[in-house]
Order: sequence, then structure tokens, then C-alpha cells
Amino acid sequence: MSDAKSIVWFRQDLRIKDNPALLAATELGEIIPVYILDEENAKDYSMGGASKWWLHESLKSLNKSLDGKLNFYKGDARKIIKDLCEKNQISHVFWNRCYEPWRISRDSSIKSDIESMNIEVKSFNASLLWEPWTIKKDDGTPYKVFTPFYRKGCLNSHPPREPLEKPNNFRFTDNQLESISLDNLNLIPEIDWYKQMEPFWEIGEEGALNCFNEFLDNGISNYKDGRNFPAKRFISRLSPYLHFGEISVNYIWHEIRNGPEDRNIDHFCSELGWREFSYSQLFTNPDLPVKNLQSKFDNFPWVDNDHLLKAWQKGLTGIPMVDAGMRELWQTGYMHNRVRMVVGSFLVKNLLLDWRHGERWFWDTLVDADLANNSASWQWVAGCGADAAPYFRIFNCVTQGEKFDPDGDYIRHYIPELKNLNNKYLYSPWTAPSDVLSQAGIQLGKDYPNPIVDLSESRNIALDAFKSIGQKS
Ligand SMILES: Cc1cc2nc3c(=O)[nH]c(=O)nc-3n(C[C@H](O)[C@H](O)[C@H](O)COP(=O)(O)OP(=O)(O)OC[C@H]3O[C@@H](n4cnc5c(N)ncnc54)[C@H](O)[C@@H]3O)c2cc1C
Repeated sequence: MSDAKSIVWFRQDLRIKDNPALLAATELGEIIPVYILDEENAKDYSMGGASKWWLHESLKSLNKSLDGKLNFYKGDARKIIKDLCEKNQISHVFWNRCYEPWRISRDSSIKSDIESMNIEVKSFNASLLWEPWTIKKDDGTPYKVFTPFYRKGCLNSHPPREPLEKPNNFRFTDNQLESISLDNLNLIPEIDWYKQMEPFWEIGEEGALNCFNEFLDNGISNYKDGRNFPAKRFISRLSPYLHFGEISVNYIWHEIRNGPEDRNIDHFCSELGWREFSYSQLFTNPDLPVKNLQSKFDNFPWVDNDHLLKAWQKGLTGIPMVDAGMRELWQTGYMHNRVRMVVGSFLVKNLLLDWRHGERWFWDTLVDADLANNSASWQWVAGCGADAAPYFRIFNCVTQGEKFDPDGDYIRHYIPELKNLNNKYLYSPWTAPSDVLSQAGIQLGKDYPNPIVDLSESRNIALDAFKSIGQKS
């Protein structure tokens, strides 16, 4: 071991196991582990409320694993890192790479600052199976369609690296570092809405591992078909852990592919592939969170209606499958993927509200809010993205409920006002005769809203609007 003294800058890699930057620094000598809340550079992409709550708990857990030696700072990372280097005879700075455009540009300027001080900087890949610039078509351009991206690009390129072991022990510097406390990052929202999310999650590296093991024991064996049913637990719920790097995607990939070939495993891996595809899209199109990938959508006649938006956000649209999803989001910080597609399609194609409203609401309320996945998925739902849902694919919110929540458990759980309504009318209460409603104890418009739009009329209006910008079926 040398007398190196390294800053390990934690970002979206809040774990000890399979953490290349941490391992490299630990093998070299003394370490100064650092977390910086940098809203000065993040600006509009500062974390939403649910993510901040998650981050607070995740940092608490990471700090514990680092014997309470994690140093917290708030402000411009560029200044903070430079200052730490100047005052502490730092020899190296290590971090794992992030891929949000604002982080890429900030990190590259930090890298040149530090190098000009004759300090060595090393960055690693700790969160993707294939970094975006490594997967290209034969002609050197990025893929725009998922299947060839994943099958021809990813699976035919180098295999994802094997996970690394946990460092044995840490040597922390005894320098005085003028850091602030975790509480002083002020990550906990002022309103205590986050408290209702607490029972649903075990945040931190150990929680991530428990979540993954639970999925291996109970979810993966029926993933391919079961993943469509929101009342069932065949999905992994790993998304927030993956976003914050509490578990390594390489670890997941290798653990899961350890067994015999299986269609469920293949399907799960392809969903990890969608995550890679989102990162590739964001890398190639830095404006992905705000700008339509297909420019003809710039002329789309979006509706401006705050009343409709609020009803959607609150889960009070009168369409049970949509409201159940929006309430799941509010209560747990998560929404099942099938339902994300339904509520997204409803916002964009029945209410004709701009997809960016949906993107922003998800950004604020999802614990897995992820710039790449969220913006790529919203563009996909709206039809303006890469490999997007065609415009005429408008989810029917009633039949989606009938098909994917056939017993009505999901809807009844999140909309207890409807719990006594029989399945025939559960998905479309406005069609129920008045005696059925009154037997179920429901007065529409009082206990549960009337639908805020007529589904088939709004569908036709949407189809016309999509045709008006030149979308062809
Ligand atoms: C409108 C909309 C917005 C979305 N916003 C986000 C977001 O902010 N953050 C986010 O992580 N995912 C987002 N998704 C993708 C997907 O819904 C979630 O990743 C998934 O529901 C997370 O649940 P899970 O971990 O149980 O998934 P699983 O089915 O268990 O999948 C495992 C992992 O694969 C990745 N994955 C799965 N499906 C997708 C997908 N369609 N696109 C990209 N990656 C995927 C995720 O990392 C996920 O954790 C969004 C989807 C839609 C339709």
C-alpha cells in the first residue's frame, strides 16, 4: 500500500460491493469518502421530493457501512472538489461515471481542473452493462430501434464485466474536512407525505440485496407473463436501487444468468436492456427530457388544462385503472410498469396533455425517477420518441383493467371507495345502473368522480390530432 490519499466521490453508486472507484481507491491507500448534493449544476434536473427522501435514507445506510466517515457537502461540486484537493494533499480522485448530460459536462470540467493540479483522476463504469458509446451500428451511428440495439448491438458485443468483490477494510484519513451533517443536506421534504412510503421499502445496499433475493425466490420464475399483472409481485421492484446504485447491474446480470437458459430470465435481461437503451438515447440526445425526438411533434396541438392535469395527478379522473395507478404512485413512490403505460397513454392520448407534464410529475413523485428511463419512456408513450408506440395505439383503460387486473384486487386496494362494486362495473363505474351503484354504496360524482373525459370521444379527437401532424398509420 502506498501513501496515496484519495477522494472517493460517491454519486449514483451508493454501495460498497462491486464499486470499482471505491475498490481502486481502497487498494491504493487512505480514502476520503464524499457525497455532494449539487443542485447548482443540476438546476432543472435537481431531484424531486420522493427521490430526495430515498437519497437521505440511502446515504444514511452507506455512511453506516463506511463507519460513519462519509463526508457530506452541498453546493457546486466543481468548487468543493477543488477546495478539498487544495487543502488535503490529495493524490487521486476516483468516481464512477454518470450519464446525465449536465453531469457529463460538469465532470469533464472537474477532471481538467484536477489534472491541472497534477492530481490523478480515474473514473469507472459502475452502473451500465454497456456504456452508450460502445454500442453502435456497423456504420458508426447509434441504434434507434430497441431490438437490434439489444440483440445485435449489446448481446453481440463484449459480455458485461464480472462483479468485483467488496474492499476488505478501509483506511480513512484523519484530516479535518469541514463537512456538514446528512441532516443539513435538507433532503427530507417539509410535508410528511414521504412517511406513507416508508413501510414499502428497505432502503440501502442490504435492502437492495434482500429485494433481489426475494425476486429470485418468488418472482423470476413467472416473470415473462406475470410482469403484466399489477396486483401480483412477479416484478423485481429493483428500479430505485438500480437508480441510486445500491445494487450493481453487473451483479444482477451475472447472478441471474448463472442458471440454465430460461424464457423468464431472457425476458428480465431484455428489460435491463431497455434501461441500457434509454441511457443510449439520452447520451445521443441530451435534450431528450424536454424536446420531442421526432420534430413533427413540435406542432402537436396539446391542450392546456390545469383542472385535467390536477385530476390525473390526484387519481381523481373517474377511470379506475388510471386512478389506482396514480394513487399507487402517491402512496408508495412506485407504479407498476403496465399501469405506467396506461396512465401515460391516458394523459397524452385521452386528455391530450403534453407528455412533459407527466414526465415532471413522475420526476417529483417516483422513488426511481431516472432522467434516462423517465424521459425515454414518456417519449415512447407519447409516440414522439425512438422506437415509440405508434400514435394509433391508444390504451383502452377499461379493457386494460379487465385484462391485467381481472379480479379487481389492484383497483380495490387503491380505490377503496369502489370495493363493493362487482367486477362487471368495476372498470367503468359510469356504466353501472343506479341500483347497482347504490347497493355498492357509491354515489358517482360524490364518492367517486364521474369520468373527466369520454374515453371513445377523446380517443377519436386524439387520432385526428395525431393525423394533423402527419402521423401515418
Ligand atoms: C411513462 C413511464 C415512465 C417511466 N419512468 C421510469 C423512471 O423514472 N425510472 C425507471 O427506472 N423506470 C421508468 N420507467 C420504466 C419501467 O416502468 C420501470 O423501470 C419499472 O416499472 C420498474 O419496476 P421494476 O424494477 O419492478 O421492473 P422489472 O420489470 O423488475 O425490471 C427490472 C429493471 O429493468 C429496468 N426496466 C424495466 N422496464 C424498463 C423500461 N420499460 N424502460 C427502462 N428500463 C426498464 C428497470 O431498471 C427495472 O428496475 C417508466 C415507464 C413508463 C411507461
